[in-house]
Amino acid sequence: MDKNSQYYIELDEQWGAHTYHPLDVVIERAQGVWVYDVDGNKYLDCLSAYSAVNQGHCNPDIMAAMTAQMQRVTLTSRAFRNDQMGVFLAQLCQLTGYDKALMMNSGAEAVETAIKITRKWGYHVKGVPKHTAEIIVCGGNFHGRTTTIISFSSEKKYKDDFGPFTPGFVTVPFGDIDALSTAITPHTVGFLFEPIQGEGGVIVPSDGYLQAAYALCQQHNILFMADEIQTGLGRTGKLFAVDHEDIRADVMIIGKALSGGFYPVSAVLSDNPILGLFQPGDHGSTYGGNPLASAVGAAALNVLVNDQLVEKSAELGAYFMGRLLRIESPYVKEVRGKGLLIGVELHEPARRFCEALQQRGILCKETHENVMRFAPPLVITRDEIDWVLGHIEAVLAH
Ligand SMILES: *Cc1c(COP(=O)(O)O)cnc(C)c1O
Repeated sequence: MDKNSQYYIELDEQWGAHTYHPLDVVIERAQGVWVYDVDGNKYLDCLSAYSAVNQGHCNPDIMAAMTAQMQRVTLTSRAFRNDQMGVFLAQLCQLTGYDKALMMNSGAEAVETAIKITRKWGYHVKGVPKHTAEIIVCGGNFHGRTTTIISFSSEKKYKDDFGPFTPGFVTVPFGDIDALSTAITPHTVGFLFEPIQGEGGVIVPSDGYLQAAYALCQQHNILFMADEIQTGLGRTGKLFAVDHEDIRADVMIIGKALSGGFYPVSAVLSDNPILGLFQPGDHGSTYGGNPLASAVGAAALNVLVNDQLVEKSAELGAYFMGRLLRIESPYVKEVRGKGLLIGVELHEPARRFCEALQQRGILCKETHENVMRFAPPLVITRDEIDWVLGHIEAVLAH
């Protein structure tokens, strides 16, 4: 049998659990912003693996660091030390301005880690009675897929069949400062949020919301916990999306682009009075902090800084968004976003528009039914954006 797309799609369907509804494009290689499928088609990737490949697919600098490290040592476990982790953590903390970092693998694990350290801080520092800590979260959130994290999802699909749920979470509407204020009790230890809700449909809160939320947290001695797994590391045109409001999270959660798509690397960043509370045995991960992940992470940060990807995201994002806003289309309800994290909300399901773009050589994926998300690798050029926009305009015109 000829090994075309259909061949691989049938393998996936037969042998894999059906947890996703992907576009039927089977990618066999990629470089920069471009991906190539098994049928010989070429596409510009406007999703970047949910912002994991901000540095572009198969970035040569990260690849070189990874292949070099792979030939030395890949995994030591934290039973022993290695010569890569500390070097990477120093670089990460110096870039971001935090005292300490703890490496994990997936984003969800980093969120779990943030929840655990925040609860421990609540009991040991704030003095909340044991096992009564509450963390306030936002409606429409996406923080990952573990049983604890889906316990405070508001998405039926993510949670309905998977209870019983972990207690200790209180949900308020995203962007509603009065609701946040009302939800605070003496048991509140943290406020966990995404500065822009990515999976929720690229929801941008109104200006000043995060600053007001931060002030409330300070006033009530509550940790301000930013999940910047998707928005962080340049995606929104600042190093972190909270930088747009000149605030600093007490607990910062990052992942995805921390490895530029080569390897699962995530981390929780915080200061000594918080992350310093973890004692040997409190938390761990076999692969967390391994030398391969550390080398990859260090290279991914170097690319971010040396190629000025944060600045590029700000400049090209403003251009992309400006042109989208000028499109006159009966289908478009709203265009929103920051930097190169852009959502176009339609009056109808976005799937057929994504499929039409696929026909034209552009990959994007609908989120929350009616929203097209545009989040290309930050290494995209203005010419490439012009090319993409020509097609978006055509698809939205009729
Ligand atoms: C992707 C994502 C996660 C989960 O990361 P995984 O690596 O898939 O576990 C958590 N929070 C946000 C905001 C994300 O975008």
